[in-house]
Amino acid sequence: MHDDRSLVESRLKRVLEERIRPALYPESVPLEVSIWTAPGEPVPVAEGLAAPRTPIAVGDAWGAPWGTSWITVTGTVPEAWAGRTVEALIDLGFDANMPGFQCEGLVYRPDGSPVKGLNPQNQWVRIATPAAGGEQVVLHVEAAANPVILDYHPFLPTELGDRDTAGDRPQYKLTRMDLAVFDETVWQLVMDLEVLGELMAELPVDGARRWDVLRAIERALDAVDLQDVNGTAAAAREQLAAVLAAPAVPSAHRISAVGHAHIDSAWLWPLRETVRKVARTTANMTALLEDEPDFVYTMSQAQQYAWIKEHRPEVYARVKKAVAEGRFVPAGGMWVESDTNMPASEAMARQFVHGKRFFLEEFGVENQEAWLPDTFGFTGGLPQIIRNAGSKWLLTQKISWSQVNTFPHHTFLWEGIDGTRIFTHFPPVDTYNCSMKGKEIAHAARNFKDKGVARHSIAPTGWGDGGGGTTREMIAKAARLRDLEGSATVRWERPAEFFEQAQAEYPNPPVWVGELYLELHRATLTSQARTKQGNRRSENLLREAELWCATAALRTGLAYPYQELDRIWKTVLLHQFHDILPGSSIAWVHREAEATYATLAGELETLIDRAQRALAGDAAGGRELVFNGAPHTRSAAPAGGAALASAARADGCAITARDGGGFVLGNGLLSVTVDGDGLVVSVVDLATGRETVAPGTRANLLQLHPDFPNMWDAWDVDQFYRNTVTDLTGVDALTVALDAPEAVAVRVARSFGSSTVVQTLTLRAGAGRLDIDTEVDWHETEKFLKAAFPLDVHTERYAAETQFGHLYRPTHTNTSWEAAKFEACNHRFVHLEEPGWGVALVTASTYGHDVTRTVRAADGGTTTTVRFSLLRAPRFPDPLTDQGLHRFRHALVPGAGIADAVREGYLISLPERRVTGSAEAVRPLVELDQDALVVSAVKLADDGSGDVIVRVYEADGGRARGRLATSFPLAGAVPCDLLERPWDGTRGSVVVSGDGVELALRPFELVTLRLTAASG
Ligand SMILES: [Zn+2]
Repeated sequence: MHDDRSLVESRLKRVLEERIRPALYPESVPLEVSIWTAPGEPVPVAEGLAAPRTPIAVGDAWGAPWGTSWITVTGTVPEAWAGRTVEALIDLGFDANMPGFQCEGLVYRPDGSPVKGLNPQNQWVRIATPAAGGEQVVLHVEAAANPVILDYHPFLPTELGDRDTAGDRPQYKLTRMDLAVFDETVWQLVMDLEVLGELMAELPVDGARRWDVLRAIERALDAVDLQDVNGTAAAAREQLAAVLAAPAVPSAHRISAVGHAHIDSAWLWPLRETVRKVARTTANMTALLEDEPDFVYTMSQAQQYAWIKEHRPEVYARVKKAVAEGRFVPAGGMWVESDTNMPASEAMARQFVHGKRFFLEEFGVENQEAWLPDTFGFTGGLPQIIRNAGSKWLLTQKISWSQVNTFPHHTFLWEGIDGTRIFTHFPPVDTYNCSMKGKEIAHAARNFKDKGVARHSIAPTGWGDGGGGTTREMIAKAARLRDLEGSATVRWERPAEFFEQAQAEYPNPPVWVGELYLELHRATLTSQARTKQGNRRSENLLREAELWCATAALRTGLAYPYQELDRIWKTVLLHQFHDILPGSSIAWVHREAEATYATLAGELETLIDRAQRALAGDAAGGRELVFNGAPHTRSAAPAGGAALASAARADGCAITARDGGGFVLGNGLLSVTVDGDGLVVSVVDLATGRETVAPGTRANLLQLHPDFPNMWDAWDVDQFYRNTVTDLTGVDALTVALDAPEAVAVRVARSFGSSTVVQTLTLRAGAGRLDIDTEVDWHETEKFLKAAFPLDVHTERYAAETQFGHLYRPTHTNTSWEAAKFEACNHRFVHLEEPGWGVALVTASTYGHDVTRTVRAADGGTTTTVRFSLLRAPRFPDPLTDQGLHRFRHALVPGAGIADAVREGYLISLPERRVTGSAEAVRPLVELDQDALVVSAVKLADDGSGDVIVRVYEADGGRARGRLATSFPLAGAVPCDLLERPWDGTRGSVVVSGDGVELALRPFELVTLRLTAASG
């Protein structure tokens, strides 16, 4: 037979596009349209409904960037349409390719009840089926003129990302505002032809099925009268019925479709717009659930439920009803889909605490999957946190975005730093915005790496990023793909149903140990430094606030600020969303984040101050108490307690001028030599005589790179950035900043480009570390600033702190997997060691770093260079990213073992506080006699019982036994999960004895204890 395949395929494309789709709405009449534009920010629904309208016509421009217009459409269903299906078509000026990235609307009835959302892929509103002739139609649309930030030519700097700079030029033109007859038969024909046409394109050309489908399509097209599509659509469908009825082969891949809208809690829109995005999408999805009995919809991020509960109660009522019916499924169990690289231990734990608790309290639902489709890499600390939250599964597709290496599994056990294993699935469809296209379904089946031993995968289905969700077209296509020869099978299922089936069919999946590193978006560890510092500061202040408020509550009866802490935690958790903390949002988001963090800091400082004053007693007592919020003793103040400030001043520091320029600083522990350029040429650990700085190199060297990635400016740094570097060695001034027995310091000032930097290097009495405070007035564009420490250490691996422990990464680039990790995350420290001697670099400020190694020609020794990433200056999406003043604190700790790195990391992050009072001392609520056991949190139980919650983890990566002693009479201690519920999942040994608990923990194990004080 002659091969006319391409002829039929081209015919399908043209007839579908030019004749059949246009016949979906065979008749229409224009609606009358009027508009009111809110003068500033969005107004309450009642106000928008009541505001006076002025007429507007199709073709007219509307919508200044970020503005809100209330558009009213009115009309009458023509008598001739009685008995037919009538819809309103509302095209606000949509570009069909940009759902979620454009203008959007939420449709209301005159009584204020929501109907559904409008977006570029969802422009219809059902009026009636069957319609009554003469029916009056009145609808109101709350239309948001969200500007397009990410355009066809992407990543171009734009002023549109902040209301303050966006101007007032209208962004959209009303395109179609009609009442129309909807021809359901034509719509079904379109669905048939799309499914079969897309399937056909994926089938092997030498297989019979492809030709069966081709001939059926040809017969269907023959049956269509191009001058009467509506009259012949049914006949065309008959020609397709047989190929649509052919069942899938038994070995077909099985896809669990999950209705979904990935909604970024902020990104190319501000937080306040996400509130409305969620309302639009959930209004749409609850409407769709009513129309489609098989459909199941999943939404993650408790914060988004909380938003609509507060701001759109009429939509929330519908959500609550659908959740109760089991068809709207809360997923993820986290407050937001956060970044996981940067949040500290407690914050990562609290994401689950607050997320799961919200779902439990609002819906009585506890889901068991962590749902993080879009997060930029996953730390080795996460599995244990997921398990301690009472969950057991993880879903993400993001690792498929890795630039270099292809991950070997789609379903596997992911093992974290402590040995916890989590059953993990990467949807092979490689998107969280599946739209049921044949190409996507076929890709999922082909791409699935676990064929032969497993058959199931998941497909999050619906428009996402900016919301939108699943469409009726996706549901129609899924119905045809339920059991179709040549395709994977598709069923609407809840995430838990998928995971249970996947786990049952795959009892021994492969294991991946350690972090799930995303080989992309590495610059998100550095971009928007002030947002990142706000997060760190908030995390540290929350630790202190909980500790001191709990201590004051037990000791003095001061009321514990449950509600304030709950609210502040949720705000901090929200800002860990995977486009806020990573620094990849528009300017508006980061401007607001900085202001919010400043407010939170003030509130937390007040809480801390009030608790410490209560503990210190009457200020007239005149005693200066040193409060130590760190988990290690210092300045004679116990961890988590306070001691009188010592009268004896520590001393022993000295600074002398160096021959040839520069200074030598000493404190009896370290001898530090700064050369005439203000660079550190030597740091000797006097206890061992060991030199820290590699011969022939200089440490604390600031280095400037050009930084213009090929895509994703705020997200990405591409490896070639290293090809060009400028060492900032020019000095404006090098002076002694401090010369006292208790501390000595030098200050070095430099200027480069349009920027200046002042660094202060300080050596304190009794401290085995060199503190480096950096103040940069940064006015560069597309540059990357690093601080380099070339160390005389030979090692194949180094440690970087993560949640509840640390993980190791290689210092070499043997394979593509190691080479791809050219920028990585640290929490408070990076640590390198040779047997018997190590060095730590600690930080209170930054997350990104890189480690490289070279071998020196002169002596054959190895130089391992650690560089902290300080600042970037991308221009998209915020054209002025990181401009202005920044302060950083780092320190070099020679001779540090891993325990020293842990301790110094805490000490640099949690400065001591001095309060005048009458108390002799403040005993900590709990004390540990073993340094490897570190207190992560001390707080009162969230249930208001007055019980003390203490979270402890093994921090060194070994086994540790120790006693946690309480300074209050102890009635009982119960191991708990993160939600403070009694839990038998604790693996270590926890034995109550007297007023204390004997603990024996395994490497990196965390334990949450609920301690009940004896009454009286
Ligand atoms: Zn996202």
